[in-house]
Amino acid sequence: MKRIAVLTSGGDAPGMNAAIRAVVRSGVYHGLEVYGVYRGYSGLIQGDIKKLELGSVGDIIHRGGTVLYSARCEEFKTEEGRQKAVEQLRKHQIDGLIVIGGDGSFRGAQKLTALGFPTIGVPGTIDNDIPGTDFTIGFDTAINTVIECIDKIRDTATSHERTYVVEVMGRDAGDIALWAGLADGAESILIPEAPYQLDEIVERLKRGGERGKKHSIIIVAEGVGSGVEIGEKIKQATGWETRVTVLGHVQRGGSPTAFDRVLASRMGAKAVELLLAGERDKMVAIRDNEVVGVDFDVAFSQKHQPNMSLYELAKILSI
Ligand code: ADP
Repeated sequence: MKRIAVLTSGGDAPGMNAAIRAVVRSGVYHGLEVYGVYRGYSGLIQGDIKKLELGSVGDIIHRGGTVLYSARCEEFKTEEGRQKAVEQLRKHQIDGLIVIGGDGSFRGAQKLTALGFPTIGVPGTIDNDIPGTDFTIGFDTAINTVIECIDKIRDTATSHERTYVVEVMGRDAGDIALWAGLADGAESILIPEAPYQLDEIVERLKRGGERGKKHSIIIVAEGVGSGVEIGEKIKQATGWETRVTVLGHVQRGGSPTAFDRVLASRMGAKAVELLLAGERDKMVAIRDNEVVGVDFDVAFSQKHQPNMSLYELAKILSI
């Protein structure tokens, strides 16, 4: 293996730049040439590939987003599109590819390996929804962004003695809502993995009110339903002023936290090591604070489940 390439694909996540940097720097350290593919699989098919030097990844470890840009690419889902991608890789004499992205990007990566091209995945997504790894790059930054916003909402919620519903990202996974909710002492946390009872939420709110609580925060993962609709139901059931904030894409941006930078640095370097060791069809994962290689099939054969003990704990603590 002499020449490798790296790309970012699917939804961007803070820390992807730190992972790109780690791939380039550790690749060069091991005597490899490293190429960057711009705009994910779309750029791969089009041959948007440039050599990255040590200096190309200077001054990016602290930046959100991805300097390689990200994209979604329908053509790559076709056999013909993937053949074009492999042709481009061969034309540039690239021997191995590192794909930084979510599970969709990994499905694409696995299909490249099936065409005989060694590919390794690095989990980068704010949703933390990839089975087989305890954390994904970007999740810690996203939950820190959410709690920063909720801390501010809490100030105005207290001043006006209002109930706030905050809708956060997480179409299929409740991790962002769960961790941010626990970190923020939310009254109720609504996640797609656990059905919610409106009566229970209302009762909890009323109990708080009787204790003299000045404000209440309810966190809703977008996969559960619209925060606006849930806010309306709560208002009708309690008769209290209820406001709704939808945090949206602010959760995707921002400077990565120290945790994400360290995780991305470790994972990027591990991906290079795996390629050098002749591994393929694997993703990098962190398990019990060890960075390891795990078969893509592990990620695909399991269903992601958030840590439900946190959900139970949040309920106890917001009694
Ligand atoms: P994420 O990686 O964040 O989950 P997506 O699911 O949008 O994002 O996937 C990113 C890209 O990966 C898609 O636009 C497509 O090019 C590729 N991809 C996704 N699923 C597959 C698949 N089943 N087969 C081949 N390529 C896929």
